[in-house]
This record gives sequence, C-alpha cells and structure tokens, in this order.
Amino acid sequence: MKKTVVFPGSFDPITCGHVSIIKRALPLFDKVIIAIGINALKSTYFDLETRIKMIQSVFANYETIEVKSYSGLTVDFCTSENANFILRGLRTSADFEFERSIGQINKQLHPEIETLFLLTQPEHTALNSSIVRDILRHGGDVSQFVPAEILPYFK
Ligand code: ADP
Repeated sequence: MKKTVVFPGSFDPITCGHVSIIKRALPLFDKVIIAIGINALKSTYFDLETRIKMIQSVFANYETIEVKSYSGLTVDFCTSENANFILRGLRTSADFEFERSIGQINKQLHPEIETLFLLTQPEHTALNSSIVRDILRHGGDVSQFVPAEILPYFK
C-alpha cells in the first residue's frame, strides 16, 4: 500500500520551519499532502487561494507533494485521501501538550491512523507563522524566516 501522510496546518503563511519538516518527511513517504485546514470561525492574514499558491510555488518541482484544503476533521480528510499518517512538527513542550490530546483522541476515533512527530531543527524553534504575520504587519523584513519563493506575495 502507498504510504501517504497528511501535514495539516494553517500555513498563514508557510515558513522555513514548515518547509524543513516537509522536506524531512519526503524520504519517509510515497506522497505528502500539505493540507490547509479551513476554519470558518478563524480569520486569516492571507486568503486560502494565496496560501495554496504560496505553498505550490515553494514545492513546484516536487512530484510527491500535493497541496489541498479541507474543512472538518483532519482524520476524516485523511480517510478521504487514503492517508494513514498525520505529520506534526514539535517545537516546545507546549506543542507536545497540545498535540498529545489531539493525537490520542484522533487515535481513538481512527485507530488505523498514526500521528507522527518530527522535532524541529534548533534554528526553527522560535519560528511560527504568527510572528511572521506580526513582522509583516509592521513592514519588517521576514526574508530569513520564510522560503524565498513566497517573498513576491508580500509586495
Ligand atoms: P496549526 O494552526 O495547526 O498550528 P501551523 O501552520 O501553525 O498550523 O503549523 C502546522 C504544523 O507545522 C504544526 O504541526 C506545527 O507544529 C508545525 N510547525 C509550525 N512551525 C514550525 C517550526 N518552526 N518548526 C517545526 N514545526 C513547525
């Protein structure tokens, strides 16, 4: 069976931390689906279409990567995509505590789906999309925090 993993998130916007986790997952899976979760109750800095385009521009030359969006439960999206794995990145113990309950409940709901975690590289521990958005709001330079391919979207 093909090994497909879903990497869910908001990606508002994609950062070097996300890119690093995705690239490290590539040799482990046949297919990596970068899945943008749509939360109607949460407003985002970049609209869905722009977030998809930004991610596609980063991974244009990667045949085993797909970019999709979904609403509803991540586990239901995994089932619809025949994916038996969910990938998450861990930066801090706070990430771990947050992920632990979701991962355990998801396992109860869908025992066939495994959630796997990759530890962030030390240089990406402090990085998150919210900090990037704050810098952008105030006209700062985010070029060391995001992949170069998405810089044109900030102009
Ligand atoms: P969410 O809203 O689900 O947290 P994000 O887009 O913020 O969505 O993150 C998606 C995934 O990427 C999560 O597993 C998150 O822990 C991981 N991630 C985000 N930033 C980093 C980083 N700097 N290093 C490693 N993993 C990260």
